[in-house]
Amino acid sequence: MLTAIEKLAQFILHAKEILIFTGAGISTESGISDYRSKGGLWDRFQPVTFQEFLVSQEKREQYWRQKMELYESLENAQPNAGHKAIAELEQLGKLKGIITQNIDGLQQLAGSDPNKILELHGSTRETICLSCGEIKPWQEVYERLKSGDGAPLCYRCKGILKPNTISFGQPLNPEVLAKAIEWAGDCDLLLALGSTLVVEPAASIPRMAKQQDAKLVIVTLSETPLDAFADIKIENGIGKILSEVLNLIKAKR
Ligand SMILES: [Zn+2]
Repeated sequence: MLTAIEKLAQFILHAKEILIFTGAGISTESGISDYRSKGGLWDRFQPVTFQEFLVSQEKREQYWRQKMELYESLENAQPNAGHKAIAELEQLGKLKGIITQNIDGLQQLAGSDPNKILELHGSTRETICLSCGEIKPWQEVYERLKSGDGAPLCYRCKGILKPNTISFGQPLNPEVLAKAIEWAGDCDLLLALGSTLVVEPAASIPRMAKQQDAKLVIVTLSETPLDAFADIKIENGIGKILSEVLNLIKAKR
């Protein structure tokens, strides 16, 4: 009888196109709080919707005050063993791509190819001007917020600046979503890591892959609606599990 970890190593060795799907659980291992969870940001503050952000200066200031908390943790956050294992997995040469619900950019910092990463909810490491579309690194806005600018405007056109993320009430980027669905159809192994698989439409991606005959492996600390559907479900830390799996794979090659 193979253990779950041995079985996962076998799946990876036999796969040709591996798709990785990550959620908040992989970032909590880097000290980024899961803002959807109990005690998280959205539990303590009423989230500002995209529509409110567009029309109300007061709501924009409230939004940026909440964002400051995330920026503070972003300053010190480093990729963890899970992110590094995924970057190492890419070296096997069969990674289709990484689809993430996370906005922290830690996977890129771990050394994964940015062209193979789809950020479904955008990136908090960038800001975008809602008028001229200019995209900039987050640090500029962070400095302006710290110096007392409650809701910074674009230097170029005076438009409203916003983190380049998908807010409540804002649709996903259709091109990013279409690409994610295409990848789900092309993969033969999907590893869902640290996602509760409940936020739609993102959570449908692992289901689609499984329905098109890919193997589905779920590693997360909680239960998910797809557990019964998965070929392997492991309730444990992602960094720990992936490191063990990589060691097994290295021993076999
Ligand atoms: Zn602008």
